[in-house]
Amino acid sequence: MNSVVIGSGFGGIAAALRLKAKGHDVTLIEKHPDLGGRARVFKRNGFIYDGGPTVITAPYLIDELFELFKKDPKDYIKLSPLKIWYQFIFEDKTKFNYSGNEIDMKKQIEEISKEDVKGYEKLVNFTKKIFDKGFTELADVPFNRPFMMMQQLPALLKLKSYKSVYSLVSSFIKNEKLRRMFSMHPLLVGGNPFTTTSIYGLILYLEKKWGIHYSMGGTGNIIKGFEKLMNEIGIKIIKGKEVTKIITNENKISGVQLDDNNIIESHNVICNADPPAVYEKMLNGNANKSFLFKWKKNRMEYSMGLFVYYFGTRKTYNNVEHHTIKFGSKYKEHLDDIFNKKKLNTDISYYLHRPSATDKSMAPNGKDCFYVLVPVPNNQSKINWEIEGEKMKNLVIDKMENDLMPNLRENIVEDFYLTPDYFEKDLNTKHGSGFSIQPKFSQSAYFRFHNKSEIYDGLYFVGAGTHPGAGVPGVLSSAKVLDKII
Ligand SMILES: Cc1cc2nc3c(=O)[nH]c(=O)nc-3n(C[C@H](O)[C@H](O)[C@H](O)COP(=O)(O)OP(=O)(O)OC[C@H]3O[C@@H](n4cnc5c(N)ncnc54)[C@H](O)[C@@H]3O)c2cc1C
Repeated sequence: MNSVVIGSGFGGIAAALRLKAKGHDVTLIEKHPDLGGRARVFKRNGFIYDGGPTVITAPYLIDELFELFKKDPKDYIKLSPLKIWYQFIFEDKTKFNYSGNEIDMKKQIEEISKEDVKGYEKLVNFTKKIFDKGFTELADVPFNRPFMMMQQLPALLKLKSYKSVYSLVSSFIKNEKLRRMFSMHPLLVGGNPFTTTSIYGLILYLEKKWGIHYSMGGTGNIIKGFEKLMNEIGIKIIKGKEVTKIITNENKISGVQLDDNNIIESHNVICNADPPAVYEKMLNGNANKSFLFKWKKNRMEYSMGLFVYYFGTRKTYNNVEHHTIKFGSKYKEHLDDIFNKKKLNTDISYYLHRPSATDKSMAPNGKDCFYVLVPVPNNQSKINWEIEGEKMKNLVIDKMENDLMPNLRENIVEDFYLTPDYFEKDLNTKHGSGFSIQPKFSQSAYFRFHNKSEIYDGLYFVGAGTHPGAGVPGVLSSAKVLDKII
């Protein structure tokens, strides 16, 4: 049995490994000269920038891919748990060190709002229930049939999945700062906390269960470790070639065509590329004839876009933690602008990554390496990033100077940025969204793009647009679903 995997994001690599472990003859095809997709690495002038994922959770999902081949993950990667997970900075410049240390957590909550300590305990207990159902029980279960969804509905309703994460958190916590902090997790997977189903409250508990880790040498080192493993076990990797067409015979897959016109025949094709883009650009025919499927695809709402500014500084900023999150003052209005009105707003929130806080190898001696990520509208906005990119860069530097890094601008020695255009053109993601389709209840599980195509035999999907969803644990779990259905 041979299988072709299109795309080398975490989901694609995990799928290739799982199929190889089942005895398939596997070929992985990636359009870029390097692997990783959103987790690609950019190396410039001695600075190492992880392109995307930086917060590593549920590390067992990474380890088990090495263990499938009786390899010790420690021979390939080194994950280090962080003490402070995120430092939150509020508009009044107060800070909160969010961590797995419950004593520290409760002390800081008490300083902000005494009455919320009990609410926090209740919130954690409730998210454990969501986690037990949504992650432990359902994250790697195929949702290809409506029956499966119907079966789970009563339990999901009991867990208040119809509520948003923000509304769930607010039912336990009164203080607005704390509400924002404990409901921010949907933003990590492309959702608006005010509309994302409270199932995603499970991330709060998932972090507590296994901690937050950093991959020494950067997240890119995990991809490097996987590439070494894939070479050792005989997965064929084709880099720098784009799949332009998935070849079908009636409703059956027979292979793929590359941008150099070469054809690779295959029994199965597993797409790690964004599902709507696959159905629209690589398949012409039956997918677009099915009225029901077309309706489903067209009604989907896409996650936000991302503006990511990578920069190196001539000095170190030791006051900056590894992960910093800053909320703008009109948080809800800003999210509404991004997700619904699709317009830019100057009251930005941002996430700042400083890997050199933990790992000096990421920057030249005495220097610091950063990226700052700003949620922005996806390309449905029609924003011209050729013009707005530079403005956004200056805005976010101003904000960081004001919030925590005085005179930053004059200390930046090199920089570049990515906008939703990169996600659309380079990563082939519909509307340039950062995380494919949004994690809303109406787009979860059975309602997401199915891991097994409902239109073509032999066509499968893994990655952010499929069940269970975006984020490294999500896409690694999508490959576990594939393992069960192929
Ligand atoms: C800036 C940023 C920060 C993030 N931070 C975190 C974090 O801290 N923690 C976390 O858990 N998650 C994080 N995420 C989310 C996480 O990175 C993604 O959800 C996940 O990596 C997506 O993996 P994927 O398997 O869907 O594939 P992707 O990474 O989307 O890769 C898909 C691949 O398919 C390739 N491809 C597409 N079309 C073709 C074609 N026709 N032919 C050949 N190849 C093709 C693309 O080039 C790409 O390499 C972040 C995402 C971003 C963008």
